[in-house]
Amino acid sequence: MGYNVAIDGPAGAGKSTIAKLVAKEKGYIYVDTGAMYRGLAVHFLKKGLSGDDKKAVIDACDAKVTIGYENGIQQIYLNGENITEQLRTEKVGNMASKTSVIPEVRAKLLELQRSLAREKDVIMDGRDIGTNILPDADVKIYLTASVETRAKRRYEELSAKGEHITLEKIMTDIKERDHRDMTREVAPLKQAEDAILVDSSNMTIDEVVRTICDHCR
Ligand code: C5P
Repeated sequence: MGYNVAIDGPAGAGKSTIAKLVAKEKGYIYVDTGAMYRGLAVHFLKKGLSGDDKKAVIDACDAKVTIGYENGIQQIYLNGENITEQLRTEKVGNMASKTSVIPEVRAKLLELQRSLAREKDVIMDGRDIGTNILPDADVKIYLTASVETRAKRRYEELSAKGEHITLEKIMTDIKERDHRDMTREVAPLKQAEDAILVDSSNMTIDEVVRTICDHCR
């Protein structure tokens, strides 16, 4: 079993930014589980499915999602094709959010996530890592921030990539995603009992990284 650090929290809390920096400092492998849900979402979008059409989504779950690393950066492959560049758009994020409530979608990715943590020292971010995927993780962090802060961060990330979307729309999307993540029946987003709460609303990236590194081996 590897040394396992779980980071959960709502959309836009800064999990991936922070987890990447902690991984670098501590020598862990960074595993972005949201990217796996996004990978399947790309497949559903390519097939022209609606995220609300549960049956069609379940039927389309036979796609093969795998991960690899190039220069230490996680890559997502869909049926062998590297689709990493297609993952971080608002459209893909919304499809991932809708379809991740479907138990069959979650079940498909569960073993892939657990097997990575068995083999390697990982810092894994997501929504249900500390509560469901790695209940025995060595360190569990629940990273959050206010809705306003999270929306602003996501707005800056998307604007920098040239995606045109208003702050209001992002705020609405984030609230919807929080609601779906926190109220779904299977593995909803919540702070594990033994997780350390970190609210990054008024913290710098460096302060958050330091706080988490201090809890890790
Ligand atoms: O973190 P990210 O925004 O990339 O995740 C995309 C979507 O995948 C989220 O909106 C969330 O609903 C879902 N997700 C999940 N469980 C995880 C990781 C992501 O349900 N462990």
